[in-house]
Amino acid sequence: MLLDARLLLFYQRCNRRAFLDVYEDPSRQDQASDYLHKLMRDSWEHHQTVLNEWNYHQIKYIREDWQAGADATRELMLQGVDCIHKGVLLYPDDRGVTLLSRPDLLVKCSTSTVPEKSDLGAWSYIPHQIKLGKRPKLDYQIVAAFHAWVLAQVQGLMPETSILILRGRSDYQVNLAKLQDRFLQTLNACIQMLLSRTEPEVFISRQRCNLCRWYSSCYATAKSELHLSLLAGVSQSRYDDLQTLGLTTTESLSAVDPAVLEPVWSRPIAQQLVLQAKSTLTGKALVKSDLTLLPVAPVEIYFDIEAEPQLHLDYLLGLLVVDRSSGTDRFYPLLAEQPADEQLIWEQFLELVWRYPSAPIFHFYDYEVKTVRRLARLYQTAAPQWEPLITRLEDVHQLVTQGAILPVESYSLKSIARWVGFEWRDSDASGAQSLYWYDQWQKTGDRAFCEAIVRYNEDDCRATQRVKDWLWTFLREKDLNVG
Ligand code: SF4
Repeated sequence: MLLDARLLLFYQRCNRRAFLDVYEDPSRQDQASDYLHKLMRDSWEHHQTVLNEWNYHQIKYIREDWQAGADATRELMLQGVDCIHKGVLLYPDDRGVTLLSRPDLLVKCSTSTVPEKSDLGAWSYIPHQIKLGKRPKLDYQIVAAFHAWVLAQVQGLMPETSILILRGRSDYQVNLAKLQDRFLQTLNACIQMLLSRTEPEVFISRQRCNLCRWYSSCYATAKSELHLSLLAGVSQSRYDDLQTLGLTTTESLSAVDPAVLEPVWSRPIAQQLVLQAKSTLTGKALVKSDLTLLPVAPVEIYFDIEAEPQLHLDYLLGLLVVDRSSGTDRFYPLLAEQPADEQLIWEQFLELVWRYPSAPIFHFYDYEVKTVRRLARLYQTAAPQWEPLITRLEDVHQLVTQGAILPVESYSLKSIARWVGFEWRDSDASGAQSLYWYDQWQKTGDRAFCEAIVRYNEDDCRATQRVKDWLWTFLREKDLNVG
């Protein structure tokens, strides 16, 4: 069995993923999304940009003939070439697993920096990994330690460090001595899991499972098991605590007295979890508190943003203006067709929201508030033009979570709006997909991509309106004794 850096990286993020990658039929994976393709292409382009700055010897071998690759790599290392790209390092672990390392670059250490002799001679190598990310995340560092460790077995000397070449940052030197125990624990646990062939339990976590191609398969498993990870608010650590308390099903959690949970969590969290289980079991919304301050106005604005976080760019400010007195609405998509147009759409946004100076501006989550502050600072907007907007911004997510408990798996806009009956025109549209469309618009100039972004953004604004309207009706009509 082969264990490579990719498998070790996935193992750290989700042990089940590493297991499925080795033992499950790959045809059961989801298709890679457009956004995942974009990330892979961005990563490849970044690799090429970095590699253009290096003079290297490239190892050539028939794909997956790792032994041939390892032999060719060792040959170049023995010759003492300065830099090797696509090197292959193999180390057969005595438990029947072969460790396969393919560092992006192997860079020769000058004699003065090599305190000891390696098996190669008066030189040795240091592994370098090219990363699209900007931060030296722990899982990157563990993988960097993996390359260093396999290299040490091949050259007979542990490298002083392992380098992460990060995007837009100076190279990061991994402290191998500090990381050694953690790395070995991770490696050994991964090997043990693979050799035991025991499938790790499913645990659906929105963040972690987001881009994973086993998602449909895992989600179906979790659904069939009525797994507690599908209950909103149950994180991995809360799940572990619930197991310890013997609460392993939604039924058992719904029937428990919240006081039983209070040694572990605060009263509000304990009550929230029990009510969440009750709501999920019955399929009904429960009132949490009476929000008498839910704003309703003759004119309301619904606001949603499309952004490219890597570029610190907000490329679409979408505003749905709803005139309740006339029963009409109009959607304004303020799109930065080029990134340089961000200031222009910010000014258009200010002009539009000040046409309705008493209209509350509804949005979902806090990104819109942060963005108003960011754009005001960036474009040096006078305080009277933007500061009063902050008090007009109303977070519908906050209003919903304060006022109600819903039978949804998460309190995302998609999840809640779908539960109240709203559907997006493009069923697989998402923020990530919007990023892909914007990237394609920039590259191809095809307006169909702009139209898709605008359609998605408009639907987000309309979904926010539907959720807010639902909450207003629900709180008004519902018996408020629950909760
Ligand atoms: S979908 Fe989630 S639980 Fe399943 S393998 Fe992927 S990350 Fe792990």
